[in-house]
Amino acid sequence: MSGTWVGLLSSLGRHVLTWSPSRNTILENFKIISNKLNFQTQSLNKIRPSSPPWLWSPKINTQLTEFCKHNTDNRIIRNLFAEIISQEYPDYAQVYTDASKNKNGVGFSVITDQNNHLFKLPPSSSIFTAETHAIYQALLIITSSNSTNSHIIISDSLSALNAISNPYPKNELIQHIQKLIYEIYTPTCFMWVPSHIGISGNEKADTSAYEATLSPLSIQINTSSSFETFSIIHQKIIDEWQHFWENLPLSNKLRNVKLFVKKLTYPPGTKRREEVTITRAKIGHSRLTHVYLIKKEPAPICDTCNEALTIEHIVIICPKFTEARKILQNPVSLHQAFKDENTAAISIFFNSIKSNHPL
Ligand SMILES: [Zn+2]
Repeated sequence: MSGTWVGLLSSLGRHVLTWSPSRNTILENFKIISNKLNFQTQSLNKIRPSSPPWLWSPKINTQLTEFCKHNTDNRIIRNLFAEIISQEYPDYAQVYTDASKNKNGVGFSVITDQNNHLFKLPPSSSIFTAETHAIYQALLIITSSNSTNSHIIISDSLSALNAISNPYPKNELIQHIQKLIYEIYTPTCFMWVPSHIGISGNEKADTSAYEATLSPLSIQINTSSSFETFSIIHQKIIDEWQHFWENLPLSNKLRNVKLFVKKLTYPPGTKRREEVTITRAKIGHSRLTHVYLIKKEPAPICDTCNEALTIEHIVIICPKFTEARKILQNPVSLHQAFKDENTAAISIFFNSIKSNHPL
């Protein structure tokens, strides 16, 4: 983890900020950069599980996953839900949770008999984080109510419930949820229900979660898991770097062919040698066009056109390769020739002309 952080911090340093490697600790550098990126989320502490992993078995009812809401009449699922509740959890107080991520932001709701609790998260939070926070807050609400009732927390997020059942969670939020479940005094169960099939508590939680993203009364939560913090900061760094990249003049050779700073990807099954060809073509430096520097010879000249032999000459200009150029869909610029959709075709093109010009 720390190695990756150092990588991220240094890439931000190089491309975005006037930040130089210093004697600061990683945490101190992280704080400097968080402030500069206006990132205020706190990471939750990692905690050890309260129960031994082999004894960890929270009560999570997923019976309704057997029914696909698209193939089954929603009324049948609703009736089944009512039946399960009345037979298995007759005296349990129901608590519904749901989350919403939309253009207004990220929010979630916890619906109890007495109250609708609305919460807001930073807009960069994932829907999984929001669903998980909703369950965490539901447990906190139950704990602080000092109620002697049993509770059932009903969520439509299977991924959040599955994460809770994992005996070895790495996500700190899940660790905190498990601690609360372990410590809670009254019996507390969980149940999964499908969304948008008219289960009234779930519908109410859904509407409230949307409302939470808009309401000024929503409680703002600024804690998250380290994984979420990591991915948000990573994205912010990429955004800043992209902004920096876009402001470079097009005379910058690499800027001209690479519009986005994201990592170059190759189609599945690309051989190492083909990757080399693609990369050399994109950066415009290849054995063919630049080996003269090492050999201390004159720069190569195209034997057909008597012009400097460059990647651009081969890919765009030289009439000798008019036929081969169809592989790249007759590009009129290097940028067009080396666009993402053409990645696989680049090495095919150079292979087809390889007899004369090894790259
Ligand atoms: Zn030529």
